[in-house]
Amino acid sequence: MKVVLFDFDGTIANSLEIALQVTNRLAKEFGYRTTSLEEFKQLKNLTSREILKQAKISVFVVPFLVRRFNAEFGQSIQHLPIFPDIKETLLELKQQGHWLAIVSTNSEKNIRAFLETQELSDVFDQVVSSSRPFGKSRLIKKILRQNQFLPETVYYVGDETRDIEAARKSQVSAIAVTWGFNSTELLAAYRPDFLLHAPQELLQIINPQLSRRDNVEQFL
Ligand SMILES: [Mg+2]
Repeated sequence: MKVVLFDFDGTIANSLEIALQVTNRLAKEFGYRTTSLEEFKQLKNLTSREILKQAKISVFVVPFLVRRFNAEFGQSIQHLPIFPDIKETLLELKQQGHWLAIVSTNSEKNIRAFLETQELSDVFDQVVSSSRPFGKSRLIKKILRQNQFLPETVYYVGDETRDIEAARKSQVSAIAVTWGFNSTELLAAYRPDFLLHAPQELLQIINPQLSRRDNVEQFL
């Protein structure tokens, strides 16, 4: 059995458009300027620390912003799309007996509502959330400690550089996905253990023996 922890936004849910709408809705309240979709997409080459610096948002304000953001975001959860092939991949991993969880900056309430809409409620053993965008390693370590998992059996799957950093800090394998927020180039520069271009590739990483046997069978 392996332990596969997932980021939520940009990894499972395609949050880009709703995130942009909410970001712009809160611009006045938090004193930053609004962004067009084009500008927003250009941010893919920046880390979240760089984006906060550019928007002149103090790190002390961030937890308040995150909480306001999550509350607003919750109103659109029914319209939040899932990335193609994610559902099938998650169901297959679950069926193979792996332990799955979500570690996110989005709220547990929003994530659970989304999972219910997508009929994925039973797939995850745990959903944990923190309003501190750079606090994910603490959550990962807590999961490891509570369940007595060995770091070498654990993977963290995410779409941002801060996800790779969180995996490193908790000594678990970092799997970066290229269908989310940060660009392939930026993710590669942070040297994750794996860089995925499609959700199905995850099955080969988690079950190397299985896919090798499949390959042999195919070959025969
Ligand atoms: Mg993400």
